[in-house]
Amino acid sequence: MAAPAPAASILVVEDEADIRRFLRAAFTAEGYRVVESSTGHRATIDAASHKPDLAIVDLGLPDLDGVEVVRRIRAWSPIPIIVVSARIQERAKIEALDAGADDYVTKPFAIGELLARVRAGLRHAVRGPSGTQVLRFRKALVDLGARTARRDGVELHLTRIEYRLLGVLARHAGMVVTHRQLLTDVWGPTHAGDTHYLRVYMKQLRSKLEEDPVRPAKLLTETGVGYRLIEDD
Ligand code: CA
Repeated sequence: MAAPAPAASILVVEDEADIRRFLRAAFTAEGYRVVESSTGHRATIDAASHKPDLAIVDLGLPDLDGVEVVRRIRAWSPIPIIVVSARIQERAKIEALDAGADDYVTKPFAIGELLARVRAGLRHAVRGPSGTQVLRFRKALVDLGARTARRDGVELHLTRIEYRLLGVLARHAGMVVTHRQLLTDVWGPTHAGDTHYLRVYMKQLRSKLEEDPVRPAKLLTETGVGYRLIEDD
């Protein structure tokens, strides 16, 4: 697995000076370069002029809605965007993800969790749009390119829909994929609201691939938001 480039630069969009200082210290200690923006307007300018490798966007900003910042950066840039939201901003979080953000952390967050999200985001940017091709579960192995699967060495049948679901999750390996995005990509835009499809198919996938389907190790539920495929680190 490729390590993140040590000199990768991160744009931190956050109006609270204490949190900015804390994030700068944490990211600098990991070898990242940091650009700080305290407002949404400033952030859209800094994103264009500094061309960071990844952006962290707080949703509660004084001037622009963080969702709007995500939309403006995403309009021209493919960089990974991680949103930071307080619990009370659940709806805004999903809006931001659907507007093109790649992942989120909820305030108050553990720095270790944010750093892991940043690494996943940077790996995603390096890997490009095809994503991970081979998924290793404890007892099962799925080759998305060849569309073959095995469990305990025995061939395993996955349906077309199951392969497509895994394919979408694998393209965003390590990051969250919203219900809407999964439903749109797999079943089409007219099914964007049919979250019960996902419950049924994810349950099936877990029982085929996870060692313990009730406590999945790789196919995780992000309650109220979507699903996340955990990468082999
Ligand atoms: Ca804030």
